[in-house]
Amino acid sequence: MTATLDTATLKQLDQAHHFHPFTDFHDYAAHGGRIISRAEHVYIYDSDGNRIQDAMSGLWCCNLGYSQSHIKEAVAAQLNELPFYNNFFKCSNQPAVELASKLCQLSAERFQHVFFTNSGSEANDTQIKLVHRYFDLLGKPNKKHIISRKNAYHGSTIAASSLGGMSAMHQQTMGLNYIHHINQPHWFENGGELSEHDYGLLAARELETAIDTLGEDQVAAFIAEPIQGAGGVIIPPDSYWPEVRRILEERDILFISDEVICGFGRTGNWFGCDTYGTSPDLITFAKGVTNGYMPLGGSLISDKVADVLLAQGGEFAHGLTYSGHPASCAAGLATMALYENTDILEKSSQTLAPYFASRLQELVEHPIVGQVRCKGLVAAVELVRDKQARIRLAPDSAAAVFCRDQAISAGLMVRQTGDAMIMSPPYVTELGEVDQLINTLSMALDKTAKEFGMSC
Ligand SMILES: *Cc1c(COP(=O)(O)O)cnc(C)c1O
Repeated sequence: MTATLDTATLKQLDQAHHFHPFTDFHDYAAHGGRIISRAEHVYIYDSDGNRIQDAMSGLWCCNLGYSQSHIKEAVAAQLNELPFYNNFFKCSNQPAVELASKLCQLSAERFQHVFFTNSGSEANDTQIKLVHRYFDLLGKPNKKHIISRKNAYHGSTIAASSLGGMSAMHQQTMGLNYIHHINQPHWFENGGELSEHDYGLLAARELETAIDTLGEDQVAAFIAEPIQGAGGVIIPPDSYWPEVRRILEERDILFISDEVICGFGRTGNWFGCDTYGTSPDLITFAKGVTNGYMPLGGSLISDKVADVLLAQGGEFAHGLTYSGHPASCAAGLATMALYENTDILEKSSQTLAPYFASRLQELVEHPIVGQVRCKGLVAAVELVRDKQARIRLAPDSAAAVFCRDQAISAGLMVRQTGDAMIMSPPYVTELGEVDQLINTLSMALDKTAKEFGMSC
């Protein structure tokens, strides 16, 4: 849309009428925000004329940047052909059919069914219903409990925020009584004197204890992100996932891999579960499936679960008006075509990701950097006052908030979670743009060090 309102008017109307997600309404009404007016390649432009390099791929979703005309044209063409029809009442549409088939073809052999939603949150709600129905059909109606992890992010609907482990969200929403949380495998925060290896085993074994305490006959599923994204890019120790896999293999529990961030190449493989060698029964996808251009999410369902759901009649009482929306699915298909038919994924995992990792790793020399975590193209930089003791630079994440604001003012969009700066750059970022990212981030780190009384 070409801007027809000047910036001052836009900001004023925004403050007056628009409640934003995860925002302090009181503060926003008083101070307002930034109007993003257009985007190109890996840059966003605001209505004040600033150009900002996006190191977050939008919100972990525009993995291929903002200029993929193939996806835009596919959506426009679909809107002309069939802008909407629902998939209820024995109807279907070609983009939904094709995308379901394509996702099954691109994922592991055992995934042959897809249920579409509009978002990752709804997809995780769907997973709960699928898991419950699965055990009901197997004649195990007591298996309803679901184990998740503290500080996980699984979305914002009631069920998804209950699955998630963010304390701020739990304070505002009464959690579901059949959802339980174990600790996250966050060695830097919780590992104490243990080696990363030993801490990884300890964190994994919390799952074993939780299942056995609740009773295996009561527990339906474990849900986890391969790498916790919004929680601060928590990359688990190498010992964690193999131990979780052992625990799950010994028990009759389904495993839901929430691949909303890690899916579609983020960690260097098609899914995060490929990177970590886990074997999920259900996969949650969203975000990158359409390169963020259209809302779409869903559940990939393995044969183990699908066979039970298919074996007998009875309706699955669940659906969203826009499940399998033709324009969203057309965006998904065009995105998959880019993943399949270009060398973007290969180049990003072979060239870009190693370069990004090595340049980021240089930052561990910085006086306020306690740890650099990086896997594929997702990363975190932890800010500290004392590297050895892993003591934080300032209370209440103040240092990371300051650092983020410095970076954004200097033209780099990064996020902050807790005391970590987090990044998830687009796969089409050029190597020179990685240098630019590192330069701006270093400058923001320098300013943060100075602000919080550290020399550098
Ligand atoms: C973003 C996210 C979700 C929620 O997706 P929405 O589309 O925002 O509902 C779920 N899981 C993970 C891991 C996410 O990052």
